[in-house]
Amino acid sequence: MPLDVCQLPLVGGHPALDLVNTLERGGTSPHDFLSDSSALLRWSVRVGVLGDADADRVDQAWRDEPAAAQAGLAAVRDIREALHLVLLATVTDADGASAGDPVAAGAALVALHQRWSGAAARARLVLDSSRVRLAYGTVPGMLVPDRIAEAALDVVLTADLTRVRRCPVREGGCGWLFLDQSRSGSRRWCRMADCGNAVKARRLTERRRAARASHS
Ligand SMILES: [Zn+2]
Repeated sequence: MPLDVCQLPLVGGHPALDLVNTLERGGTSPHDFLSDSSALLRWSVRVGVLGDADADRVDQAWRDEPAAAQAGLAAVRDIREALHLVLLATVTDADGASAGDPVAAGAALVALHQRWSGAAARARLVLDSSRVRLAYGTVPGMLVPDRIAEAALDVVLTADLTRVRRCPVREGGCGWLFLDQSRSGSRRWCRMADCGNAVKARRLTERRRAARASHS
């Protein structure tokens, strides 16, 4: 039985990368942890894109208007897909090849810009003591996708994209994306405790099996 979205490890180093990791792309049937609008709402609170008071407002708006909940979920999945294509194009796998496709990434940037434009049109400039900030999410029904569009823009514009890594699929890793914040910049696995150790254990078993075969 798959994990609940609230048990999903957060390894991305940024909510936008954790968003990309809510879809298991490996295997024959991809599993979407954002299975419905309620899972999306719980996940959004967990990663901090909205607080409890905002979550209550969204919950009410989505109960009053289920179509808004569906539209919000569809918008988030759209942002997730675009972000995945953009970030993959920044990843270089161990064999030196790019993990993504620049043409697909270009189209994805257009989609991401459209989603962000909508969010920016609904945002408001707010005077916060002596600072002015752009507050996203003024329309409760669209608050979640708008904050996620904000997070997506934040990561593509301000993160060091040379530090985006993919847990190495060809070596048995899971394919999740993360920002390598290690000083050396040599982090390879999303979680050493899971993917890294599982692959090492598997290799050890294979080596032992091979050693036994060569003895007999
Ligand atoms: Zn992994």
